[in-house]
Amino acid sequence: MALIIQKYGGTSVATLDHIRRVAMGVALTKEKGDRIAIVVSAMSGQTDHLLSMANEITPSPSAREQDSLLSTGEQTCAALLAITLESMGHRAKSFLGLQLPLLTDNVHTRARILDLPTDVLTRALDDNIIPVVAGFQGVTEDGSITTLGRGGSDTTAVALAAALKADRCEIYTDVDGVYTADPNICPRSRHLEKISYQVMLELAGLGAKVLHARSVELAQKYQVPLVVKSSFGSEKFTWIVNEEDVMEYSIIQGVTLEKNVSKISLIRVPDRPGIAYKILSPLADASINVDMIIQNASIDGFADFTFTIPTTDLEKASKLVDEVAAEIGALEMLADNNIVKVSAVGIGIKTNPGVAAKMFKSLWDENINIEMISTSEYRISCVVEEKYGELAVRAVHKAFDLDNSDHSQTET
Ligand code: ADP
Ligand code: ASP
Ligand code: MG
Repeated sequence: MALIIQKYGGTSVATLDHIRRVAMGVALTKEKGDRIAIVVSAMSGQTDHLLSMANEITPSPSAREQDSLLSTGEQTCAALLAITLESMGHRAKSFLGLQLPLLTDNVHTRARILDLPTDVLTRALDDNIIPVVAGFQGVTEDGSITTLGRGGSDTTAVALAAALKADRCEIYTDVDGVYTADPNICPRSRHLEKISYQVMLELAGLGAKVLHARSVELAQKYQVPLVVKSSFGSEKFTWIVNEEDVMEYSIIQGVTLEKNVSKISLIRVPDRPGIAYKILSPLADASINVDMIIQNASIDGFADFTFTIPTTDLEKASKLVDEVAAEIGALEMLADNNIVKVSAVGIGIKTNPGVAAKMFKSLWDENINIEMISTSEYRISCVVEEKYGELAVRAVHKAFDLDNSDHSQTET
């Protein structure tokens, strides 16, 4: 008898009809004799709706209360699915993060899981009850509700699979697996039957939201067999596997678009030791993730200092940097959220010269200006103006011969 964790994303539980359909699928798996635990996201749009209500009251609600509010989306959905399963004659029970308890650190809005005891869930499973766990949420040691970051229900599911030593973790969503680029942006993207944890982690970290990056990290660490499937019926799916189990690799395996990026520039910063530290350390203290950093060559003892951060942190970061700007005597601070990051990801980058040049040429061919560049062993990222983001993805995808030649299949 296998133990399967199934996670259903927002679009899969968008309405009561969708929830009924999910319940029928769950029941079918259960009737086959497998043990099954479910993780659900909030119904599609619900998290954004809750967030916009809080923002109507204030643009900067406290992170603690925001978490408390957003966790109710998953709570509602878990209870509705449990009620539906019960109405169909199954035994089911919903669980919130704090009832398991899924313990996290206290970094509200992007908490990390510290511990997940299994006794509550094991007891339910042993009693032939289907546990329906509210994803995306946890609880701190002192009882505050936390959330795991947008898209975090995937991470709840993988954490559950790891803790319960499940045979597999199935992520049900609105696409039938992982593609070489977001199929909703790039109609010629190719379906991947398998992708390595490592490449998937890079793609997820750079904007491929089909899986939450932390879920891939956990799956790799605990060797959780992870599969992405469609909850809308398709024969196709994608397994996330170890590097050695992926047969063949091209130089670039995927192209991503990250929309949650903004940049902050400090103009005419005195060029002396300690300045970069002074600018960035308040951001580190506030747990704001700084990504690309550029400092121009200094002229007359002054330089411009530019970096990117998630747009969700822009307001907080601008305030902090503005204070430093005054302290260090910078001329002015500029904030820009009209940008996106396009990345080409591939394990072949480090061993193949000319990959970056090819990416830059493909953007030039479309007359797209590159505002910032960063590279690592596995990726090349370019910041471009937001309105060119999707075009840039398609151009880079094509340049690396990733386009599916069978366009009848995917062209819209
Ligand atoms: P869920 O609500 O089920 O968690 P998400 O919206 O978080 O679903 O993730 C699924 C979406 O991820 C797809 O609709 C697709 O637009 C997007 N996506 C981005 N990059 C990729 C990719 N490389 N392959 C497949 N889907 C992708
Ligand atoms: N409901 C949360 C979100 O919209 C978590 C998730 O869907 O995984 O981000
Ligand atoms: Mg998601």
